[in-house]
Amino acid sequence: MSASDCLIALDQGTTSSRALCFSLDGTVIAQAQQEFPQIYPQPGWVEHDPEVIWATVLSTARQALAEAAAKGFRPLAIGVANQRETTIVWDRATGAAIHNAIVWQDRRTAGVVQRLAAAGHEETVAAKTGLVLDPYFSATKLAWILDAAPGARERAASGSLAFGTVDSFLIWRLTGGRVHATDATNASRTSLFNIHDQTWDTDLLDLFSCPASILPEVRDCAADFGSTDPAHFGLSIPIRGVAGDQQAALVGQACFSPGSVKSTYGTGAFMVLNTGTRPVRSANRLLTTVGYRLGGVVTYALEGSVLSAGSTVQWLRDGLGLIAKASEIEALAASAGDMTGVYLVPAFTGLGAPYWDPDARGAILGLTRGVGRAEIARAALESTVYQTRDLCDAMAADGLSPTLLRVDGGMTANVWFLQRLADILGTPVVRPAILETTAFGAAGLAGLGAGVWSGPEELAALWRAGAEAAPKAAAAERDAAVAAWRAAVRRVLTA
Ligand code: ADP
Repeated sequence: MSASDCLIALDQGTTSSRALCFSLDGTVIAQAQQEFPQIYPQPGWVEHDPEVIWATVLSTARQALAEAAAKGFRPLAIGVANQRETTIVWDRATGAAIHNAIVWQDRRTAGVVQRLAAAGHEETVAAKTGLVLDPYFSATKLAWILDAAPGARERAASGSLAFGTVDSFLIWRLTGGRVHATDATNASRTSLFNIHDQTWDTDLLDLFSCPASILPEVRDCAADFGSTDPAHFGLSIPIRGVAGDQQAALVGQACFSPGSVKSTYGTGAFMVLNTGTRPVRSANRLLTTVGYRLGGVVTYALEGSVLSAGSTVQWLRDGLGLIAKASEIEALAASAGDMTGVYLVPAFTGLGAPYWDPDARGAILGLTRGVGRAEIARAALESTVYQTRDLCDAMAADGLSPTLLRVDGGMTANVWFLQRLADILGTPVVRPAILETTAFGAAGLAGLGAGVWSGPEELAALWRAGAEAAPKAAAAERDAAVAAWRAAVRRVLTA
């Protein structure tokens, strides 16, 4: 280990691929980002071209590596963080995908899911996987591809096809087809993986009509995932860390102790709470998932997903034209009075946890002639605040009350939002100094896998607080606002 060593994070997201190089003290020394097109073949369907995913990962990694090399840094190991659940099937001989990637947001398998639910399989799936029955997860997407691509089921049976989430596909490509593996966090989002005994589950494979022959091997998050083929970067770099993006953010936020919790505010918002070695079964429709697995020991997490967070701000910008850029919402919201009585329920694509109502649609309630742009802007930001409060209350009802929230993602640039979050949660909210938490988590796992740090405690020592907001609102004001929000939500729920 030397001061010129660096760790490379490949953060393959839903709308862009990013590569970041971190020095061993956690400083970003190089980065590159490339957006890529979304493919919408039909309403409710979302696909990515796997070759485009690969091309953007390769070119951003090359750019970041070149920049790091120019600064005198040498890559020690690679860590991968990825959009979760997105499903790819490829040919083991050629490496070519047999169909576009089916993206996590894709709803095409809703009918299959409804049939499975009607047949009473929800409980079995939840007990084994910790997940709800929903098209969101990989299993039904995988079966759909095998049924849609000509001859795929026969080719799968003869062992010539491979399945993977995006991490697995990238590892295959990066290693020149030498390694077909995934990590426990990504496996836990497929709906095929038993999170208790940490194995692919034969009952689930039967239930979802998925053959065992195409599955990757499941490894720890900090483990040996092979090395890059020299053809890609001119040198062979070990791949030593892998996690789904939200779990990588959990690591990047150093949420290593039971009860610690992070919430990431991008397009959607994802709150993940460390529950230690105990998988907590939620009575409030939160997901039980693998937080990370290190040294063969599983740390579990409870997760709540909010479907529209930053995307509500985008709607104000692109749909309503109330603001020209996202950052303008802060001053506008701050200019509204304190008691506006306006509530915006952003159920543009339904509501996620804890409501899980795919058919609900959005509403703005409490309009009077005194309501203008500022009040709508404030209600838009507050909708993410209240949805976070809903998740916190669901966690509390499951016996795990968060006492401090670590936050990250694009929306957390907004200080008004951070203060309102602290006020409505009634707990302090902290944004870290390293804002690139997902990438930092991937790099951190790679560092653990490469022996840079002996364990999570050493990695946690690199975490520093950036901004902090403490709750100031009176409890009565908070309770009244939350009650009014819940009344607004009830107006849009369909069941
Ligand atoms: P993703 O990784 O999902 O693309 P990011 O973490 O990059 O998301 O965050 C981008 C989101 O944050 C966008 O939806 C944008 O509307 C929102 N956003 C960016 N800046 C602000 C701001 N100052 N206030 C509120 N929302 C913001």
